[in-house]
Amino acid sequence: MSNDFGFHFDNSYARLPEALFARTDPQPVAEPSLLLWNAPLAEALGLDGAALNGAAGAVLFGGNQVPAGGEPLAQAYAGHQFGNPTMLGDGRAILLGEQITPHGERRDIQLKGGGRTPFSRGGDGRAALGPMLREYLISEAMHALGIPTTRGLAVVGNGEPVLRDTAVPGAVLTRVAASHLRVGTFQYAAARRDPDLLRALFDYTLERHYPDLKDADNPALALLDAVMERHIDLVVAWMRVGFIHGVLNTDNVTLSGETIDYGPCAFMDVYHPDTVFSSIDQRGRYAYGNQPVITQWNLARLAETLVPLIGDDSEAAVARAEALLGEFGGRYEQRWRAMMADKLGLLGEQEEGDRALVDDLLDWMRRERVDYTNTFRGLIGRAVPDGEAFYQDAFLDWHRRWRDRLGRNPEPDSVAEARMRAANPAVIPRNHQVEAALNAAQRDDDLAPTRALLDALANPYEDRALDDPYTRPPTDQERVLRTFCGT
Ligand code: AMP
Ligand code: MG
Ligand code: MG
Repeated sequence: MSNDFGFHFDNSYARLPEALFARTDPQPVAEPSLLLWNAPLAEALGLDGAALNGAAGAVLFGGNQVPAGGEPLAQAYAGHQFGNPTMLGDGRAILLGEQITPHGERRDIQLKGGGRTPFSRGGDGRAALGPMLREYLISEAMHALGIPTTRGLAVVGNGEPVLRDTAVPGAVLTRVAASHLRVGTFQYAAARRDPDLLRALFDYTLERHYPDLKDADNPALALLDAVMERHIDLVVAWMRVGFIHGVLNTDNVTLSGETIDYGPCAFMDVYHPDTVFSSIDQRGRYAYGNQPVITQWNLARLAETLVPLIGDDSEAAVARAEALLGEFGGRYEQRWRAMMADKLGLLGEQEEGDRALVDDLLDWMRRERVDYTNTFRGLIGRAVPDGEAFYQDAFLDWHRRWRDRLGRNPEPDSVAEARMRAANPAVIPRNHQVEAALNAAQRDDDLAPTRALLDALANPYEDRALDDPYTRPPTDQERVLRTFCGT
């Protein structure tokens, strides 16, 4: 099925047992206007960007017209929210369909803020402009950083206010994802106590994301292993760039290994492992430094749902799943170390003192409250001290040790530098800049700062001019202390 706009849907999710979703049309909006349009993503999807970048796109991605071949539905899922099991489902997200790209890849196209669904409970099914711009901005920044993530194709202003603390402009975000299968989807199927439903979901997930595992000795155990691998890589990447997801509930953990659900997420400026921005995370469950442990906890929830598929003897199945999950810590540690070695340009076999070199730098950063991104980026090409204020007393000893270690690299400095350049972004979406851009959009209808920020975030590993405003950490006045789900 294809039409003028390049839509080419094959909606496999709609062919799953009906317990997994509810067919729901998006609710039309008053005055759709296309505010942001992701031309490169549209092209990668095989969509006709020229035709869609305007009124036609606004109508389709505002939810006023379902594209040909679309079969809108809301997905059912459960999830542990801050540790408590809850029945959820897409309360304001509507899957239009699965686009088959020119490369034969399958991508979900979903409207977030597309109207009420059977899972909306008390919610209005809508989304505010600020948070949708935020998701678009930060997910695109993550993509540019090379970190697996859902993406933003469009933001459509809906011409209607939504009521939050006050009336604010509403918008619809078009989200593109490898799929929207979540740990919470498996929890939902398991909670229904219907073995056929769980089996159908499992087979579907394998087919869609891990087709090679169909022939594994124990496909369910192999799936757990593979999902664990992807999430170890994901959380290591988050740690590398100082990203704090903020709401790592099990419904926000994908089976594909993509980052999903950008709510009160934020990038850390000053380094501290306890950093939390989310206003609803009062106990710091989802603090920067907790993300690996929480990821393991979330994978354990996935493992629980897979037990009946691992083996008929459930005690033995649990033991096998537990043994596998027990490997999380060691695997994470190894990959985290390799990531930190890249950030510091440490090549060759890891040495005895490497761990201390990393820990001592992080300790120093924490004590001195220095900027995480700029400290690492600033080390590039600084193997020889240049007398800048950067090298304070306590730092000099560390710097000497680091230089000695670099001296033992088996490859030239240029190789270490290239490694550091690829591991240490020069620019990240800083909270104060994101807030400023969103304020301009919400208060003054001015999208220029959002576009400029998107532009700055598009090539994060390239050197920036010395006076580049996007690399500047916030002043004390600018510092954002709290981020809100601000739905
Ligand atoms: P989240 O915290 O973003 O993972 O969302 C938790 C649940 O709340 C999901 O089931 C959402 O679909 C639902 N939800 C969030 N905002 C709204 C809204 N405005 N209307 C209806 N449901 C919502
Ligand atoms: Mg969510
Ligand atoms: Mg959310």
